[in-house]
Amino acid sequence: MFDTLSDRLGGVFDKLRGRGALNEQDVRDAMREVRIALLEADVALPVARRFIDDVTEKAVGQSVLRSVTPGQQVVKIVNDALVEMLGGGDGGGEAVGLDLNAAPPVVIMMVGLQGSGKTTSTAKLAKLIKEKHGKKAMMASLDVNRPAAQEQLKVLGEQVGVATLPIIPGQQPVDIATRALNAAKLQAVDVLLLDTAGRLHVDQALMEEMKAVSAISAPKEILLVVDSLTGQDAVNVAQSFAGQVSLTGVILTRMDGDARGGAALSMRAVTGKPIKFAGTGEKMDALEPFHPARVANRILG
Ligand code: GDP
Repeated sequence: MFDTLSDRLGGVFDKLRGRGALNEQDVRDAMREVRIALLEADVALPVARRFIDDVTEKAVGQSVLRSVTPGQQVVKIVNDALVEMLGGGDGGGEAVGLDLNAAPPVVIMMVGLQGSGKTTSTAKLAKLIKEKHGKKAMMASLDVNRPAAQEQLKVLGEQVGVATLPIIPGQQPVDIATRALNAAKLQAVDVLLLDTAGRLHVDQALMEEMKAVSAISAPKEILLVVDSLTGQDAVNVAQSFAGQVSLTGVILTRMDGDARGGAALSMRAVTGKPIKFAGTGEKMDALEPFHPARVANRILG
């Protein structure tokens, strides 16, 4: 991921650094190339435009152009803007962790489209909560649309050693959520993860179901799972979900694939929420906290 973008930006910055003095036109020319590189990496157009405007405004400042190393200063400005774009403002460049600060059972609701990696991420997150936070977790699948979904979560639960709510065929999502909450209370569960149903496309029925589940379970976290490989589509999906429920963060899956990076770069601006984790493989421990500063570093090589 980010390889092409990284190469392209590297080329632009080598040219800038290689020159002693810079004038405003040099900066504007370089930023035009950065803009093209961002768009080719599938960054959403308004996000790329805002990024370039911000960086240009800062970089054409006289103190930058008159400095001894203007090229390096411009690169530093781009770096800072990239960290910001990736959500750096939320956690000072560090990963924004889970907020589990509430009376147990703390509910985490997982939302997203079918195939985004939602169920896999639910189990990965349950494992992380158990092992890294040392808390007792429980999972429940509310997906009554896809026949094998509840069974899939059960199998993953057995793999990671986290209990799943027993399946009662024919029960509807809101009823399953109510039963899960009661079971979690009875069993002194610290964190209850609700894997909600996904569909192939965003539709009103999906949104209504999500809102109903949210209303009865009062989730502390509502995490949107999106597939980074779907680029601009991921951005559109995120925008739809963000407009309907109060997301608290994003999990970007398939970051191990060869996505061009646009989804990662646009997500914070589009949803207003931090990317909290990155899915980096199919295995149950392939879930990493998302560090904006480190990712920006990787992009700028
Ligand atoms: P759901 O329909 O959203 O619940 O999607 P699933 O959790 O069933 O995931 C669909 C497929 O994507 C499965 O084969 C997962 O193993 C795979 N998957 C999920 N997350 C990742 C990831 O971060 N990297 C890779 N390579 N595969 C993933």
